[in-house]
Amino acid sequence: MCGIVAYIGPREAYPIILKGLKRLEYRGYDSAGIALLNGGLKVYKKKGKVADLEETLQGIDLHANIGIGHTRWATHGEPNDRNAHPHTSASGKLAMIHNGIIENYNQLKQELLNKGYKFTSDTDTEVLLNFIEEIQTQNNCPLEEAVRIALKRIVGAYVIVLIEKDHPDTLIAARKGSPLVIGIGKNEHFLASDASPIIEYTKEVVYVNDYEVAIIKPDELILKNLGNERQTPYITKLDMELAAIEKGGYDHFMLKEIFEQPQTVYDCLRGRLDAQAGTITMSGIQKYAEQIMNAKRIVMVACGTSWHAGLVAEYIFEELCRINVEVEYASEFRYRNPVINKGDVIIAISQSGETADTLVAIENAKSKGAIILGVVNVVGSSIARISDAGAYTHAGPEIGVASTKAFTAQLAVLTMIALKIGHDKGVLDHDRYMHLLNELDAIPAKIEKVLNLNDHIKALAEKYSDATSSLYLGRGYNFPVALEGALKLKEISYIHAEGYPAAEMKHGPIALVDDQLPVIFVATRDSYHEKVMSNMQEIKARKGKVIAVINEGDEQSAALADDTIMIPEADEIVAPMLSVIPLQLLAYYIGLHKGLDVDKPRNLAKSVTVE
Ligand code: GLU
Repeated sequence: MCGIVAYIGPREAYPIILKGLKRLEYRGYDSAGIALLNGGLKVYKKKGKVADLEETLQGIDLHANIGIGHTRWATHGEPNDRNAHPHTSASGKLAMIHNGIIENYNQLKQELLNKGYKFTSDTDTEVLLNFIEEIQTQNNCPLEEAVRIALKRIVGAYVIVLIEKDHPDTLIAARKGSPLVIGIGKNEHFLASDASPIIEYTKEVVYVNDYEVAIIKPDELILKNLGNERQTPYITKLDMELAAIEKGGYDHFMLKEIFEQPQTVYDCLRGRLDAQAGTITMSGIQKYAEQIMNAKRIVMVACGTSWHAGLVAEYIFEELCRINVEVEYASEFRYRNPVINKGDVIIAISQSGETADTLVAIENAKSKGAIILGVVNVVGSSIARISDAGAYTHAGPEIGVASTKAFTAQLAVLTMIALKIGHDKGVLDHDRYMHLLNELDAIPAKIEKVLNLNDHIKALAEKYSDATSSLYLGRGYNFPVALEGALKLKEISYIHAEGYPAAEMKHGPIALVDDQLPVIFVATRDSYHEKVMSNMQEIKARKGKVIAVINEGDEQSAALADDTIMIPEADEIVAPMLSVIPLQLLAYYIGLHKGLDVDKPRNLAKSVTVE
C-alpha cells in the first residue's frame, strides 16, 4: 500500500525513482509524484498511474542527484493532484512523502491553523510536514532535530522522507509501523518501501526500525532514535534476484505466480521435510517447540487470504496436535481486549509481513506474555522481526495483488509445524505421520497436474463470466478453500461471491439459488464427502448451476454437477493446497475475460500498511 522511493548519490535521481515507483505499483495506489532538488525544489505530482506522470514530464529538464518519489493510496482526502505527494511546507523549503496515517492530525492541524498556517491539501501528511517546519522555525534547529521532536508528538503509523531546499546533500527519513528499506551503494543510497526498487543497484540493505530517524548523505548513513542516540545500522544481504520480480513470459504476475506454485511449495518444503527419513526440521521454531507442544491455546491472527490459511490450519492443528485453536481477524483482535494467558501461542500469518493490523495485534499479545510465531513471506519484514520465532514461507516476491502462491506456501508451512508438533507431542500416530509426510511431499507434483487443467478452466471461466453473483461451498478442510475461492473471484472479477460452509447454506444463502446462480462446490473425497454430495443435491433440486471441484474418477459427484474440474486425490489434510488452485485460475480467467486489470484490481492494495 503506497510506495516510497528516494535516491541520493552521483547518478540521475529521476530515472531511478521512476523505475522504482513502477516496481512498487503492485502495492496499489491512486496518484504519483516526484520531488527533485537541483538548485531549486521541483515537485511534480498527478492523480493516476506513474506512466501518466512520466508522460507529463516529457521534455522537462529533470536533472538532479537527490529526489523523492511516492505512489499514494489515499486515506485522508480524495485522490487528486492536490492531495498527491510529495507535499511542500508552507515556506516552500521542505518537501515530504509519507506512507501511513497520522491519527492525531486534526489536533495538530488546529494548532497550526491558530498560528496562521494555511493548507493546500486535505491530507494528514501536509499537517505533519508543517508541524515539522514550525518546530524547525521555533527552535532554529537542523531538520533532523525538528523531525525527532515532531515525531514524539505523533500518534499513528508512518514512513516519511524529507528533502530540504538548502541542504541538497541530505535526505531525512523515519519510520514507525510502515516499512522502509535503505540500500547502500558506493557513495549513494536508495530508499524504498521494499527491496524491489533497490535490488538492481545493491544487495546490501538496512531495515530501519520503528522510532528511528535516518540522516542520509551520499557517503554516510546515520541512524538515531528519537532520544538522539546513535543506533548501529544492521546491514543485511538481499537474497532475491531481479528475474524473480519480473513477469518471466507470462501475461500477468497473477498467472505467473499461480504457475509457480509447484516450485514455491517445493521451495517451502525443501530442507525441512524429509519424507524418507521421516523428519521435519523447522529450525525457526525449534527453540519454542516445547512451549508450543504444551500450549493450552493457539491463536491464528491474520487478515484476508492469510486468515483463510489460518482457518485451514485450525482444522489441521486441532486434528493433529489436539490443541485448542482460534482464528482471529487481526483488526478485531487488536481492539477487543482479548483474553491472553501467559504461554498462549499466537501465530501471525502475513505475506508481506507488514500488515498493519496483524503487526499491532501481535505487539499487544507479546506484551501480555504470549509467544509469537510469524509465518511470513517477506524476509526481514516487521512481523518477522517482532516475532519470537517463526518460519518463512519462501514463496518469492508476490507481485499480483490477489494472493495465490503465498497462500499455498502458508498452508505448507503451517502443515509442517502441525505435523512436527503433533508427532513430537505423541498425539499423532507414527503411521499417520509418515503417511502425511509422504502426502505433503507429493503435493508439488500434484499441483503440476492441476495446472494442466488450465485450458479447461479457461473455457469454464468464459462460460460463467456473465454471472453477477455466485456461491462457493465446502466443508471441513475445504470450507476455508471455498472462502478463498470466493475472495479471489470478488477481487479479480468484481463479481459478487459468497463463501459458505456447505451445510450452513441452508440457513440463508439457499434463498439466492435459481437457474442463473453458479454454485462452486469444493468437494474432493474426504471425511465430509457424502455430506457435501447431499448439499449438491439440494442445490440441484433448486436448479442452481453446479460447478464441482472433485477428484479424478469421482463419477458419482460428477453426475450431480453441470461442470466439473477433476483434480488428483490427496489426504484431506493437504488437499486444500490442490483444491484452491482451480479457483485461483477460474478467478483469473473470468477477470481477464471481462477485460479487467487482474494484477491491480481496483481499490485494492498489496501490502495493507494502514489499519
Ligand atoms: N495518509 C496519507 C494520505 O492520505 C498517506 C497515504 C499513503 O500511505 O499513501 O495522503
